[in-house]
Amino acid sequence: MSESKPLISLFDIRKHYGGGDKPRVDILHGISLEIHAGEFVAIVGASGSGKSTLMNILGCLDRPSEGSYYFAGRNVAQMDADELAWLRREAFGFVFQSYNLIANETAQENVEIPALYSGMPEHARAERAKALLMRLGLADRCQYRPKQLSGGQQQRVSIARALMNGGSIILADEPTGALDSRSGEEVMRLLNELADAGHTVILITHDRDVAASAKRIIEIRDGKIISDTGVGVLGEQTIGQTFEFSPKALPAKSQWRGDVLEACRAAWRVMWVNRFRTALTLLGIIIGVASVIVMLAVGMGTKERVVSELGAFGTNHIYISPKRESSRIPGRGINSADLEALADIPQISYVLPNLSGSKIVRYGNEDVQTRIKGSRAAMSRMLSWPVVRGSFFTEEDDQRMATVAVLGPRLVRNLMPDVENPVGETILIGNVPFQVIGVLDSKGAVTGDQSDDDLVVIPYTTASLRVFGERDPSYITLEVGDMKQVDVAEKAVDDLLFERHRVRDYALENAAAWIAAQAKTQDSMGVMLALIAVVSLGVGGIGVMNVMLMTVRERTREIGIRMATGARQRDILQQFLTEAVLVTTVGGVTGVVLGLAIGVALVLWGMPVIFSFSAVIGAFFCSVITGVVFGFMPARQAAKLDPVVALASE
Ligand code: ADP
Ligand code: MG
Repeated sequence: MSESKPLISLFDIRKHYGGGDKPRVDILHGISLEIHAGEFVAIVGASGSGKSTLMNILGCLDRPSEGSYYFAGRNVAQMDADELAWLRREAFGFVFQSYNLIANETAQENVEIPALYSGMPEHARAERAKALLMRLGLADRCQYRPKQLSGGQQQRVSIARALMNGGSIILADEPTGALDSRSGEEVMRLLNELADAGHTVILITHDRDVAASAKRIIEIRDGKIISDTGVGVLGEQTIGQTFEFSPKALPAKSQWRGDVLEACRAAWRVMWVNRFRTALTLLGIIIGVASVIVMLAVGMGTKERVVSELGAFGTNHIYISPKRESSRIPGRGINSADLEALADIPQISYVLPNLSGSKIVRYGNEDVQTRIKGSRAAMSRMLSWPVVRGSFFTEEDDQRMATVAVLGPRLVRNLMPDVENPVGETILIGNVPFQVIGVLDSKGAVTGDQSDDDLVVIPYTTASLRVFGERDPSYITLEVGDMKQVDVAEKAVDDLLFERHRVRDYALENAAAWIAAQAKTQDSMGVMLALIAVVSLGVGGIGVMNVMLMTVRERTREIGIRMATGARQRDILQQFLTEAVLVTTVGGVTGVVLGLAIGVALVLWGMPVIFSFSAVIGAFFCSVITGVVFGFMPARQAAKLDPVVALASE
């Protein structure tokens, strides 16, 4: 009997399942036992006797229902999740009947996993894994994946993994159970070697012949120990007699970047393995990000274009019209003397009088009643209203009272349908013959009853003296030099006219309010587009969550393996979050590229598009945040899994 303190002490350990409303099943009925460092113990018993249950408790994969477990003198029940993970990582090495290797990682990567979680630098990790695989006769199989290896080879990989962090206590649950006898003997030889080298080996088997190679045999039946050959003579050299508990110290800070890199690499591999599914999920994010970018760009571009088109005429104009709403107000409207006074206001850059009325216009046998407008030569420029044929009249035409007319395009069609070129033709306005010198560009009709396209424009003086016989303008358009001075100018105009008329027999208007309303309509269009985009991003996020939930479900066993080899909850959380973020980052980048490409295509197609840098950055970060937010729930679900439950999943 050894004098030293036992490494493992179990007191009256019981385990039951169910309870409460479910029927209670008792598996372990009070197991007490001590195991010293360096022992080679076999636990034998028939199938279903509770051996695996006991081993899961010994290996801190599971907690007992009752009883206490002391490891190196410390009560395991009082350890938190990180400390238990530390024990699994640093003290134990598991060898399972079904090997429990991660299918999409190579033999070497599988062996490296425990060191990954203990923070061993990448290079040292690879070297040690290779050395272990070589020692176990698998030097040429490092890059093979589990399914390319035989059962015996897989079991040797899992023994190498158990030794990766030292493996001072090897817990082997039916390690030969799935192997042919030759491979089984090989594995037993390895375990014997490890025991001789000072490892504590706890071997679980239903096979007495296999158990015979151990130095101590504990037999259990129906959850009770029925025999124990007792502690034999211990080897001189033992590993891990004393354990320094320092679970919080890992991994080192300098390791942080390597960790993230490693997580990204692992996440990339998972993405690649499930590339079709990942691509479909990505599609959601890509469409979301691209639509945010494109819709905002189109929204802003359209608004900008509408506002600038409106601004091209109108924003810097003030309109004065006579107001004769009551017969008691002796209004006289605006006269020509007013025009000269208005021109002296410093903010006003041009005063455009207009005189308009309806007249019969005749050409050959056709006659049409239409609107005649007398204006100045500057009208075409001020209203951004060019001629498409011929020319507009000049100031000189105006001064010499020329009988020249510029016609709207629809009027030309109605009045002279068969004339190829109306310029140079003569029409009658009232009884006065006019020469057609130009055709206006089409403005289109806004209301339908009065179209600018039916207009006849003639010089103001001609209209005043020869057509209408009216000296005073029907309304005046004032051009303000600086658009920002419109309000100041309007005030000055009002002051001037009131001083001259002593009564407000005129009305002032400007287009600012109307343009502001138009801009607002465009704004709400933009908001709607943005909303659609945000919704599609949200849908993309739900796709990510869906795939992450599926991934967690599919990889529950992998999570169990990672936990058994020492991953902390935070490692698992980090791994799954990294996967989600990687998916959305790739999606985000692709979406940005696609969005910009679509935008450029729209520009080439003639759509007004304004890319917003903040929209691009915003959409990208939204997609990444979507990954974090929607990936967090599945990731946390994975991290919270019970190791033993996760391992048992299919
Ligand atoms: P062994 O490894 O000795 O073959 P186990 O420890 O795996 O046996 O199982 C012992 C008994 O516990 C079996 O009868 C099994 O059905 C039962 N058992 C194991 N896990 C659970 C569980 N999660 N819920 C209910 N019963 C379980
Ligand atoms: Mg079992």
